[in-house]
Amino acid sequence: MSQYTYIDIPFNFRHTCWFCGEPAAKAFDLPRNPKNIHFLAHEPMSIPACEECAAVRVASDVSSIWAVRDHVKRSLMDKYSDHLAIGQNWTEQELQESEFSGALLGGFGESAWKMYEIARDRLSYQGWAVAVDSIPVEGEDETYGFEFDGVRYMSLNTCIEHLIKSLRLDKELLPSLVELLGPEKLDYALRIAKLNKAIIGYQRDKILDEVRQQLDDQQEIERQTSFAGDYSRIEAIHVGDGVATVESIQWALKNQILTLPALCQQEDAFFDAFAHLGGPQCYLNYYGLQLYFEARQSVKWVETHDSNKEFFEI
Ligand SMILES: [Zn+2]
Repeated sequence: MSQYTYIDIPFNFRHTCWFCGEPAAKAFDLPRNPKNIHFLAHEPMSIPACEECAAVRVASDVSSIWAVRDHVKRSLMDKYSDHLAIGQNWTEQELQESEFSGALLGGFGESAWKMYEIARDRLSYQGWAVAVDSIPVEGEDETYGFEFDGVRYMSLNTCIEHLIKSLRLDKELLPSLVELLGPEKLDYALRIAKLNKAIIGYQRDKILDEVRQQLDDQQEIERQTSFAGDYSRIEAIHVGDGVATVESIQWALKNQILTLPALCQQEDAFFDAFAHLGGPQCYLNYYGLQLYFEARQSVKWVETHDSNKEFFEI
């Protein structure tokens, strides 16, 4: 049945298609024509495969089992793009709660979610480590593929192409959004793209401008937060016969205690937090902080004496 030595098959995977995880009834002979063995980077091999995967046509000069896998996955993706789109268009709950007629779901009816899951799992299936006669076949790209929404694609671009095609999205919007937001925000980019399927040039530009603006705003907020959180630049403050220590001021800011009344309310919490210093030291720390907050009630004092004032302003 097979032309070459089978790749090693772990007991748990006997009768399993290496490409998609479905039951295997056939073999994928690599290369199909022994004449093409010289194109291969490794020994020729037979790979257990289901009927569908075994029938995928690959170029005669294909160089490895990994390249074959890419072809097979792409062919599965094209063939089942309608099924995959179900999971991208709806959640399982939405599908259960709604009363989609067979016609609306293109004939999938109640089994729609199941069909999505099968297609998703087949596409994402990773096979097992490849070895022939216990000798590992090297060369697998560790960074193989791009995963989105539970589905593993050959690459980010394949994933984007697929989403555009199966969800009938604007061809330029999603790639531009991903470029702006980065692949880790694909989920968000996709939501925008789904809401703006039928758009023309200037609308697309407007959306992209808005997203750019959002990004700028976000960076500004992050800048401010990181500034506010950098309490290492806090300085001790001498007030009257007391000292507000760096640690006690940091404690107050971290707990968003910014005024004397707020501090008085949190007196117990302070003594809990600084109990490790021992009674007298703990008291002196609180006393210093109290004097500091009291002094801060004068705007003029803050302007002239408080080297930490920036931390209280945000
Ligand atoms: Zn298969």
